[in-house]
Amino acid sequence: MRIGFIGLGIMGRPMAHNLINAGYDLVVHDKFAPTEDFSAEGVPVAASGAEVAAQSDIVILMLPNSPHVLEVLTSEGGVLDGAHEGLIVVDMSSIAPGASQQAHALAAEKGVVFIDAPVSGGEPKAIDGTLAIMVGGDREAFEKARPLLEVMGASVTHVGPIGAGNVTKLANQIIVALNIAAVSEAFTLAAKAGVDAEAVFEAIRGGLAGSTVMDAKAPMILDGNFAPGFRIELHVKDLQNALDTGHNLHAPLPLTAGVMEILQSLVVAGEEKNDHSGIVRYYERLANIEVRRNV
Ligand code: NAD
Repeated sequence: MRIGFIGLGIMGRPMAHNLINAGYDLVVHDKFAPTEDFSAEGVPVAASGAEVAAQSDIVILMLPNSPHVLEVLTSEGGVLDGAHEGLIVVDMSSIAPGASQQAHALAAEKGVVFIDAPVSGGEPKAIDGTLAIMVGGDREAFEKARPLLEVMGASVTHVGPIGAGNVTKLANQIIVALNIAAVSEAFTLAAKAGVDAEAVFEAIRGGLAGSTVMDAKAPMILDGNFAPGFRIELHVKDLQNALDTGHNLHAPLPLTAGVMEILQSLVVAGEEKNDHSGIVRYYERLANIEVRRNV
């Protein structure tokens, strides 16, 4: 069985390497990122999506957003141009659920099964092969892809029909964004009141307010370390997909809309490349104070 891998960025590169290290036979492609490291390991590098598809039984995509996935699938020389009946495309990008459904329908016209399988965990978990993977779509295709997903992830969960993986990912991204905003708002209050934010963190992290998000992001906030991690601009993309999806379904997302405006203000301030823990900078400017460790 040969696996095609398209999209060798921050996430895709280590994920592809984990599959190679697990003994899978890969062919890779990226329109922009360097591929010399793969060639040096003897992994074939294809010039187009069509070339990847023609040589593969399963093609994995790890691309930025919906337009990139639709382009890679449907453009001239794209995956569907080179696809054969029975090809499975596993899209691990975080995209709009409606775009997953559109891609699924276009693929089906060529006898190709498209499933959505976005991930949570970021670069460290991509490197460790411990991502959380949420899958939507055809069960049989999922079962065929499951061994590969288990190489890349510590948890692999089928959550429903096509698009359900990305609905789950949007839920994840809403909870993470709102949680960072809540931590930032609360720590700014503490700092303004003259209470050490680090002491607040230590006091509450084991209680009901504690969370994986707080444990990961509070130390970054306290250190003023906003190196990504997960860039604000990617979170803007995810919340835009959440708001579009909510509007289409008549599911109001008032808190998501509020945090989206906070993120927009950070983009205006030129901080879109910062880690999303940089949400605290919005509150710091409002309150004219910095939330840092007392060193
Ligand atoms: P990235 O920008 O580092 O990588 C995307 C890759 O896709 C790039 O190498 C780019 O050259 C390639 N690409 C773009 N258009 C292409 C095309 N037409 N043909 C071929 N290749 C093309 O992004 P990333 O951080 O690896 O994220 C990928 C996806 O995973 C995104 O949807 C992101 O939201 C999601 N994600 C990222 C993280 C994270 O922490 N970075 C965590 C979870 C999920």
